Amino acid sequence: MIHFDQVSKRYEGGHEALSSVSLHIEKGEMVFLTGHSGAGKSTLLKLITRIEKASSGQLRVNGQILNRLRRSQIPHFRRNLGIVHQDHQLLMDQTVYDNVALPLIIAGEHPKDVTRRVRAALDKVGLLEREKYRPIQLSGGEQQRVGIARAVVKKPAILLADEPTGNLDPGLSRDIMELFSEFNRVGTTVLIASHDLGLIARLNYRVASLQDGKLMSTPFEGRRS
Ligand code: ADP
Repeated sequence: MIHFDQVSKRYEGGHEALSSVSLHIEKGEMVFLTGHSGAGKSTLLKLITRIEKASSGQLRVNGQILNRLRRSQIPHFRRNLGIVHQDHQLLMDQTVYDNVALPLIIAGEHPKDVTRRVRAALDKVGLLEREKYRPIQLSGGEQQRVGIARAVVKKPAILLADEPTGNLDPGLSRDIMELFSEFNRVGTTVLIASHDLGLIARLNYRVASLQDGKLMSTPFEGRRS
């Protein structure tokens, strides 16, 4: 589903943020990406979402070779990706419902389908009763759940998260990771960048570890059976 083959990324005027990374994530897998601050985690995710382009090597995501993707093809490619940010990036002057509906409205979905799918996504993250609230009226954990609902509302094949529990206490972090596991159990491929090693160690998933832009280990045991 996600195939990095000797992928390197050098930012203009900067040093190499990723060096010859080879990482293969199969359909239906859930993988954690760890590493110190500056190790290259965000860069790796930005290559998958095609916010950044690899300097060399080949990256294939959901059957598409990203190096060959034309600018005009990027929006269509991204429809298969759900993205969760650390700071959730919700629109604070809009309701929970409107925030989750936004990707569907942008995609031109029929209003009836929008309502059905927004409610289904909010139900999955346990926030159906909060649809008329504004994000400011919710706790940090609930705000992150809205961010996750927005990421999954289009039923993406791949769910990506960049430090999704970075601002949450340990109990809430566990709940959020459990939510990702639930989406993975129904077939979504999940990749989560996190430096919360304690939490990751307690969850039984494959861990890919970056150090100064190099992939250190991708043990294949540890996959939940
Ligand atoms: P992490 O997410 O693991 O903290 P990043 O991918 O953000 O790591 O950064 C990896 C390296 O790339 C760092 O040295 C960082 O300073 C550099 N970097 C990240 N983004 C840019 C950019 N837009 N321009 C130049 N250098 C960058």
